[in-house]
Amino acid sequence: MNSADRIKLKQISGESVSVESIVLITTEGLAIKSNGSNTDIRVTNLNFAYLKDPVLKNVDFTLKQGAVGLLGPNGSGKTTLLRCLLGQVPLKAGQVEVLGLDMAKKARLARAGLGWMPERGGIIPGMSGVGLVAYLGQLSGMPSRDAMQRAHEVLHFVGLADERYRQCDDYSQGMKQRLKLAQALVHDPTWLFLDEPTSGLDPRGRVAILELIRDLAWNKGLGVILSTHLLADVETVCKEILVLRDGELLARETVDSVGHAPLQVFEVEGFGDEEAFLAGLKKLGASVTVDKRLLLVKLDMKKITGATADLSDKSVPFPAAAGVGAILSVASDCQYGLRRVRRRPVSLADEFYKMVEA
Ligand code: ADP
Ligand code: MG
Repeated sequence: MNSADRIKLKQISGESVSVESIVLITTEGLAIKSNGSNTDIRVTNLNFAYLKDPVLKNVDFTLKQGAVGLLGPNGSGKTTLLRCLLGQVPLKAGQVEVLGLDMAKKARLARAGLGWMPERGGIIPGMSGVGLVAYLGQLSGMPSRDAMQRAHEVLHFVGLADERYRQCDDYSQGMKQRLKLAQALVHDPTWLFLDEPTSGLDPRGRVAILELIRDLAWNKGLGVILSTHLLADVETVCKEILVLRDGELLARETVDSVGHAPLQVFEVEGFGDEEAFLAGLKKLGASVTVDKRLLLVKLDMKKITGATADLSDKSVPFPAAAGVGAILSVASDCQYGLRRVRRRPVSLADEFYKMVEA
């Protein structure tokens, strides 16, 4: 960062931001990113309370850079956990290490490698989209010219190129969410922390932002933690899911592992002679529960003929196609019409689905 950049930064960043600290982040932060040797997140016995009541209780996990879902009902402590990972709150009990740095001591340094999309806020009224993203890039230590160039790039990536000069408070909710994603990306972070990124979006807006997030995690190699109370969001994007309830880590599941589980749940939506269809499923050894319009069909894959043989997906012992095939043949035998059959991509218990979706 040259001295001209420093002066400009001082002018726009105001009294509350120390320019020297930003310079420090830039030099050392870049060293952290280019070093790239430790991209893990390690949380050890983390306990946290804002006041008296514990909000996070003995949370322990390690994450490799990848697509991770942080799933839990409202109030379960997701936002608080992300704040601990960002070093935004004082850590008293337990340890949080991000990019090889202890967040109780080196949070400012680590943040050079972290992008943060908060659920609320993040929009500064009166600024253009590109002005806002560039400004936030500067606040995270980028020289002004680099920040402006990257702002154009990331706004293009999120699909806001045409609207980038418009005042951001006039943006639709979907555009605001994409703008917030752009500002989280501007300094080229190693990990992205996204707090309820689909909040307030219509179905099309939801799909659009989830596709962007998936692209970042699966194709562009970023680590992503997607915090949400919506199971469908993490199913679309994440390879691994951490489940939080009342501040405790309740479960952890790798999405790919479902093909290895002998008991699998299929969602079935159809029409016709349901009684005959259910009787046919019973003969397969399935147990069926009804969830609104869906039939949840639990199959013991070991009993399904063909589950292991002659199917294209040989990488797992119990591929989804085997269960879908079995359900299709029962339906066709009793002429039950099927609108949709799919395996639930995670094998978390049904009660749990209900808890988080409630
Ligand atoms: P989630 O993001 O899963 O909805 P939060 O982390 O926001 O959960 O909240 C977890 C708990 O912490 C809730 O009981 C909430 O009321 C409480 N909480 C969150 N923020 C604060 C705060 N700033 N001060 C005091 N309590 C808070
Ligand atoms: Mg929250």
